[in-house]
Amino acid sequence: MDLTIDLTAKHLPCGASLDLLIEQVADGRAGVGTGGRAGGDAAERARHQAGCACCRAALAEAELRWSPVRATATAPVAVPEGLLRSILERVRDIADAGHGLIRYTGHGATRITARALRRIISRASTGIPGVAAVLGSRVDPGTRPVRVAVEVIATDDRPLPQLTSDIRAAIRVELDRGASLDDPTVDVLVQDIAFPGRAGRR
Ligand SMILES: [Zn+2]
Repeated sequence: MDLTIDLTAKHLPCGASLDLLIEQVADGRAGVGTGGRAGGDAAERARHQAGCACCRAALAEAELRWSPVRATATAPVAVPEGLLRSILERVRDIADAGHGLIRYTGHGATRITARALRRIISRASTGIPGVAAVLGSRVDPGTRPVRVAVEVIATDDRPLPQLTSDIRAAIRVELDRGASLDDPTVDVLVQDIAFPGRAGRR
């Protein structure tokens, strides 16, 4: 028997609801007799599907149409290099908006945004021997003393306590020089270690 299944109809010729049937397929229960949500008429639908050519054909057809959706949903997505970092930077920019250091003098107020402070922190950390990459930074101008943090990837050729102490010192010098921010608390997070001399390893 040839059956034409119209998946846009409300009901199958046998009277079964197509909405429920497609839901059954989307839930990964395309096998005949596994239909129905728990309770209710689930058992009855299962029994009906087992003996109904119409339902079996519709289930097979819906499964065929749905399988590319399922394949796409479960396929791993390759994230382009640098994308995550730039997203994080953007998110931090948004979160930082309106935050910053405000200083009042007799002649007016000076506001230095968290973003500007983060630029200073990145520049101070870049180029220090042992820093392979600066991943990002955070500024919390609301605390006293102001607390900042930087995330880096280190190379494998320097002891980390020495490296982090150099990074901290450089950031403190630059924040003082660039933004008159004295005595900040500087957290240094070493996210990873790179092995530049050994190809293929990181
Ligand atoms: Zn049926």
